[in-house]
Amino acid sequence: KRITIAIDGFSSTGKSTVAKMLAKELDYIYVDTGAMYRAVTLFAMRHLYIKEGHFDKEALLRNLFKVSVKFKMNPSTGIADVYLNSENVEREIRTLEVSNFVSQIAAISEVRHLLVEKQKEMGKEKGIVMDGRDIGTVVFPEAELKVFMTATADERARRRYEELIAKGDNVTYEAVLENVVKRDALDTSREDSPLVKADDAILLDNTHTNIEDQFHILLQLSKD
Ligand code: C5P
Repeated sequence: KRITIAIDGFSSTGKSTVAKMLAKELDYIYVDTGAMYRAVTLFAMRHLYIKEGHFDKEALLRNLFKVSVKFKMNPSTGIADVYLNSENVEREIRTLEVSNFVSQIAAISEVRHLLVEKQKEMGKEKGIVMDGRDIGTVVFPEAELKVFMTATADERARRRYEELIAKGDNVTYEAVLENVVKRDALDTSREDSPLVKADDAILLDNTHTNIEDQFHILLQLSKD
């Protein structure tokens, strides 16, 4: 039986890596909802609604109708890349600049509404792994399997830092840690759909668990 798998949790817990592995193994669709919030953030940054720390929310809302966020399969990776108005922005949305603004954009109800509708639509097809912050609570409250991932902020920042350095980004560990802590605070305290573990989600602390082990735990859970 093909099911819906909701994976939520804090930033840089390895959610997306494990979710991708799981989707591949089960031959399910994988949807990275963080990429959608990041794409809207990139749109706002490019159109200067965000400039030097100042954010013109009204201007963004007036122009939100111009935003189209879609996924398209990348045959070389076997995973869907995110497109902003027909442009593949998979790489550009992963910078620390985007990370530094995304939680502010994700706190806007109109933005959430737009993206949650799309996510629900994608979930009509059975056999899906979706990762984010509100998948088990808001997008698919009836998901057959819900997982909530966490790890210490230090460990998450260390992993994210190594990822960014490997990509050639010029960042410091301190800046990455600051971003992780700040996003956790904004994501858990926003009014609309704050980051919270669903009552029926299984809690996975992966501070000391490597990706392979996390994958096997999830694979087992998906078969139970
Ligand atoms: O998953 P990722 O770290 O790429 O998500 C980036 C940001 O997007 C999160 O810090 C959060 O502010 C927002 N987000 C959200 N709801 C989701 C997915 C992501 O608010 N379902």
